[in-house]
Amino acid sequence: MALSSLAASPARFQSDRIGLFKESVIREMTRLSFQFGAVNLAQGFPDFPAPTEVKAAAHKAIDDELNQYTVTWGAKPFREAICESYRRFYQIELDPDREVTVCCGATEGMIATLLALLNPGDEVVVFEPFYENYWPDSQLSGAVCRYVTLHAPDWTFDPNELHAAFNSRTRAIILNSPNNPTGKVFTQAELTLIGELAEEFDCLIITDEIYEHITFDGHTHVPPITLPGLRERCVLVNSLSKTFSVTGWRVGWVIAPPELSASIRKVHDFLTVGAAAPLQYAGITALQLPDSYFAQLASSYQAKRNHLMAILERAGFRCFKPYGAYYVMCDISAFGFANDLAMAKYMVEEVGIAAVPGSSFFSSPDAGANLIRFCFAKKPETLDAAGEKLLRLARI
Ligand code: GLN
Repeated sequence: MALSSLAASPARFQSDRIGLFKESVIREMTRLSFQFGAVNLAQGFPDFPAPTEVKAAAHKAIDDELNQYTVTWGAKPFREAICESYRRFYQIELDPDREVTVCCGATEGMIATLLALLNPGDEVVVFEPFYENYWPDSQLSGAVCRYVTLHAPDWTFDPNELHAAFNSRTRAIILNSPNNPTGKVFTQAELTLIGELAEEFDCLIITDEIYEHITFDGHTHVPPITLPGLRERCVLVNSLSKTFSVTGWRVGWVIAPPELSASIRKVHDFLTVGAAAPLQYAGITALQLPDSYFAQLASSYQAKRNHLMAILERAGFRCFKPYGAYYVMCDISAFGFANDLAMAKYMVEEVGIAAVPGSSFFSSPDAGANLIRFCFAKKPETLDAAGEKLLRLARI
């Protein structure tokens, strides 16, 4: 009976590859926030406007009829602007024709990279907690994740533990700095150690640098590609989304040595053909904004971090102070809920705040059961509204 009903169910057409996939918890929390009319501090996107000149450039690009496909790896002037921005911020020279591939967001950049460069059975080292896409991306590529814990409160790792995660099957380490969800900004010493391991085990360093310009309290982002000897083994994934508050535009890029870029371009071409043409042209204006824009971005996010942390601490959360990106991880042990899922559910349904349960960032749910992530890419009034609602939590 059970067998025949399974045989009749459309579920029989599902591929084995996605058998273990779950719905994205981050995006599910956004949906729940709409359903319950909650303040959305879950999914990481700003609720304030993108820069006026960047929006105007997008309007103009559409009016100027830049509405057809660009070359699959990205409009040349946009690739040149990307290279110019790396020259400006990190003093490195990149070849726009052979080392840059424009993608539909960093999300596509990461999956295109893994599909292009990993073989089934390869291993990928991932720091945990991690941004939820890296596991499904590895899974789709047939690769196995090896996790190395970042230890609270300051999210440091044990060099011996990191070393033990590498072996002859290791093909890559995925590094996200500034880090989502912890706010850790990896130091030059940590990156050097990672580089030494990549050399010892001859593997790639795949970096997600989407929060590169959002750092606080004097911390600065160092792209591993700029460190001595690492250029040939680094694949850098980035996007316009966070730096220019345009997460819905889906315009990102991958920087890799020419041979690797050639492979990534093939996957990208067959996956998506190309990123939105007019938005690539608007990206030129974005990347050419003056230094003051980038400084102001970081200082305004630092003020938002302080604002949200004050609110959360008043409500009884123990916050782990972030030094980059735009999230605060909090310990929820003091509230006495069964776990992070129970508290996130209660908060969205009863308190009116959506946040992301910590377990979504761990390979084993137990590891994140005492954590919850809040996003502070929000207008001050949104953060204040969240503060008002949190008073209800204080009364339970
Ligand atoms: N990076 C953002 C987050 O962690 C958005 C994720 C997404 O939905 N693509 O919330």
